[in-house]
Amino acid sequence: MSYEQEKEIAIAAVKAAAVVCQRVRTEMVPEAIEKNDRSPVTVADFGAQAVVCKYLADAFPADPVVGEEDAADLKTPAMADRLQQVTQYVQAAIADATPDTVTQWIDHGNGDVAQRYWTLDPIDGTKGFLRGDQYAVALAMVENGEIKVGALACPALTIGDTTGLLFVAVRGEGATLMPLAGGEAQPIKVTSSADAEHFRFVESVESGHGDQSQQRAIAQAVGITADSMRMDSQAKYGAVASGQAVLYLRLPSPKSPDYREKIWDHAAGVIVVEEAGGRVTDMNGQPLDFSKSARLVDNRGVIVSNGEIHDKVLEALKQPVG
Ligand code: AMP
Ligand code: MG
Repeated sequence: MSYEQEKEIAIAAVKAAAVVCQRVRTEMVPEAIEKNDRSPVTVADFGAQAVVCKYLADAFPADPVVGEEDAADLKTPAMADRLQQVTQYVQAAIADATPDTVTQWIDHGNGDVAQRYWTLDPIDGTKGFLRGDQYAVALAMVENGEIKVGALACPALTIGDTTGLLFVAVRGEGATLMPLAGGEAQPIKVTSSADAEHFRFVESVESGHGDQSQQRAIAQAVGITADSMRMDSQAKYGAVASGQAVLYLRLPSPKSPDYREKIWDHAAGVIVVEEAGGRVTDMNGQPLDFSKSARLVDNRGVIVSNGEIHDKVLEALKQPVG
C-alpha cells in the first residue's frame, strides 16, 4: 500500500497552514482567547485548522478528522469580528473562503477515531506560539491503529542555517526533513549515543506538561549530564528524529497525575521519530495506542528516544525515586 497521495496532500496542507500561522504571528501580535478548559486558542489555531481540513475534505471526503479545535464559540455573534479576522487570514491560503465555509471547515475537524482517520493539531504548542517560541502544525493519518503518514511543520525551528522546517514520514519509507520555504527533502536519522555533542534530552517549556525533576533524574540515570533543551510542541520529536537530541521525556506532571495525552499532540511526531530509526513508548514500555479515542487512554507518560538508550530509560523508570 502506497500513501503517495496522502503524503502529498498532508505536505501541502500543513505548509499552507504554516503560512497562515506565521502571518498571524508577524502581523497581529496574536492574543489568546481562553477555551473552556482554560487553555489558549488564537486566530491562527482556527485558521490553520480551517486550511488543513479544507485540503483533507477535498482530497479524502470519507476520512474523519480528529482535530483540536471546534467552531462553536467562533459562530456566536460576540465573536463575529474574530471570525472575520480568521477568514481574512484563511483567504491568504484559500482565496474564496467565507466566514461560513471557514466554520464548516473547522468543524470538519470534529470527527471521531475510526478504522482510518486523520488527527490534527493546528497549532501544537499554542503557548510557545504566543511567547514567540516553538510551535508546530501536526497532521497524521492512522489506519487500523497504526500511524501511516505524518507531516510536522515547525515554522520557528532552526537546524543548521535553515529556519522553518517540515518533517515528513510514511510508514516503511523513512523520515525526511525539508525547508518549509521549499527545497529538497533530505532523509533524517536519529543520532547514536556515542555522539557526545547531541547526547542530551528535550522536554516541555511548560512545567505543568511534565515532571521536570523526575525527567532530570531519569536523564541522569542514563548518563545524560547536559542540561535539557526546553522546547514547546512536537518540535521535540523533530529534535530527536534529526539527531539534535537522543531523548524526549514527558512524564506525568504531579499537578495532573491523571492527565491522558491527546492523540494530536503525538501522532505526527511518533511516526517521524520511528521512521528516523528511533523508538516511542509510554513510561511502562507500551506502544502508544491510537486506535481508541482522542486521548491515549491506556498510556501514561511518553518516552521518545534514539532507540539505543530506550531500554535503559525504561529500566531507570522502574527504580524507586530518591
Ligand atoms: P508542550 O508544548 O510539549 O508543552 O505540549 C503542549 C500540549 O500539552 C498541548 O497541546 C496540550 O494538549 C498538552 N497538555 C495540556 N495539559 C497537559 C498536562 N497536564 N500534561 C501533559 N500535556 C498537557
Ligand atoms: Mg497540542
